[in-house]
Amino acid sequence: MEDEFKRNPPPLPYEPGTVRLFLPLEALKATHRLLRIAGGRESGVMWYGTKDANGNGTVCYVVSPRQQMRWGNYHVSAEALAEVVHRVPEGWKPLAQVHSHPGKWVEHSSYDDEMVSSHRILSLVFPSYGRKTRGFLHGVGVHEWQNGYWHRLDPDSAKKRICPSDGEVRVEDMR
Ligand SMILES: [Zn+2]
Repeated sequence: MEDEFKRNPPPLPYEPGTVRLFLPLEALKATHRLLRIAGGRESGVMWYGTKDANGNGTVCYVVSPRQQMRWGNYHVSAEALAEVVHRVPEGWKPLAQVHSHPGKWVEHSSYDDEMVSSHRILSLVFPSYGRKTRGFLHGVGVHEWQNGYWHRLDPDSAKKRICPSDGEVRVEDMR
């Protein structure tokens, strides 16, 4: 079980960031759908999209890479991630990495710290293998890398950073 791999406390307190991520409701729905397809297994989904001059992102592409899925963890190989990166249109950037956990525990494990493909993206953990939650991102763990540590944002900070929006989304399942 992943929560056995509890991490050390952060070396420094989290400084709230200001860069926002606009998440079309279609992208959120597609993410729930892709995570639930895995059944009683953890799975990972990548979000790509555009970034404006201030660094605010908009999710345009939701993709589930080829991966190994197990009840307590998932694994995306470097080759599988490269397959995805190869398909991302010119100009779109990696914005977030999403994965599911079995229950309500949505902290990062030390394994999760290792699995995030970049320190410049957000890492989201969806509870209950991706089943729908009560409201927008309710119960979802949002993590940001800062000063050598993946910090979990408190619900207020998470709400300020991830904003529901409209927009078209490309969805792919490469599993
Ligand atoms: Zn995890």
